[in-house]
Amino acid sequence: MNRYALFIIIVMAFSACNFNSQKNKKEKTQNKMTINKEIFGKIDKQKIFIYTLVNKNGITAKITNYGGILTSLLVPDKNGNFKDIVLGFDNLDDYLKSHSYFGAIVGRYANRIADGKFTLDGKEYNLAINNDPNHLHGGIIGFDKVVWNTEEIKIKNAVGIRLSHLSIDGDEGYPGNLGIIINYFLTDSNELKIEYKAVTDKATPVNLTHHSYFNLLGAGEGNILSHELMIDADKYTIVNKDFIPTGKLIEVKSTPFDFTSAKMIGKDISNVEGGYDHNFVLNNFSGEIRKVAEVIEIESGRKMTVLTDQPGMQFYTGNFLDGTETGKNNKVYEKHFGFCLETQYFPDSPNQVDFPSSILRAGETYYHKTIYKFSTQ
Ligand code: BGC
Repeated sequence: MNRYALFIIIVMAFSACNFNSQKNKKEKTQNKMTINKEIFGKIDKQKIFIYTLVNKNGITAKITNYGGILTSLLVPDKNGNFKDIVLGFDNLDDYLKSHSYFGAIVGRYANRIADGKFTLDGKEYNLAINNDPNHLHGGIIGFDKVVWNTEEIKIKNAVGIRLSHLSIDGDEGYPGNLGIIINYFLTDSNELKIEYKAVTDKATPVNLTHHSYFNLLGAGEGNILSHELMIDADKYTIVNKDFIPTGKLIEVKSTPFDFTSAKMIGKDISNVEGGYDHNFVLNNFSGEIRKVAEVIEIESGRKMTVLTDQPGMQFYTGNFLDGTETGKNNKVYEKHFGFCLETQYFPDSPNQVDFPSSILRAGETYYHKTIYKFSTQ
């Protein structure tokens, strides 16, 4: 099928589906929820926008169509004081230079594929190598570097933006034209809800995620080692020296990876070389959304709950932040200044027969839903 025809079909199909988009501009301010669009910068001559979403409680999310990056998320503490709790930059140029994937949408395959190779239906595919010797986060121009099409959306009790993109056959070495639609919603229940959908005209691996570095104290205000974390995972995927899973699932019990009851991120981190950068095998995977993690920062009382329908989650403690990047408000990002909870298929799934399959075939729809919900205690 002509790839543009495919793209039009998926955009129409998704616009008509249960997302229930209403473009009526009059509704933009209903229930005090607002959407505002501004210019963030330019890439060549193309304008890049930043969308500000505000819910009825004042929680504010800023998202740009460059990389689908969440550039800012203002969330209150237990006394009602708002802080920006995601790492990022004040300007587009700094995002263009960075290799940290701050706040970005990551794909076509989030995480690593060993040696950038996989075989599908008898054919070997070679992907871009951008994390020697592996392929990481979709390659050299992954979805974090794409300028997405956007549409403002408004549904009951939420404001959002819809991002769409057509990744063409051969993009970074992947087979098939892949049409992707992502909805970011900020709901009046204080949730940042992300829905991902994709369709293809040829079998391809697909693994999309969101790569915010959170710090519930406030971005740049210190490390995250005293945050308390619970992850509902009895196992994790052990990796080799190149961060590729060996294929074995290891019980977390009696290891530094045991977050089944809340504990401080820093409690056992010194026993994990470099810090945490591991995929947790989330309990109760059935394709239905369920609570998988909870993070609390005691001083501020900010709490984040993560819900997803995915089988895995990369817990990454910003181990490669090293003080060389200066973020918003001139704050320097040192090691462990943020943590990521990237809901996903397991790393290197295209080469691991025993892992849940990440292969999307023509005629199927990839669907992923993750919610980051905020509260205080
Ligand atoms: C990976 C890290 C990688 C980082 C890049 C994380 O998702 O797990 O290994 O260095 O992304 O920002």
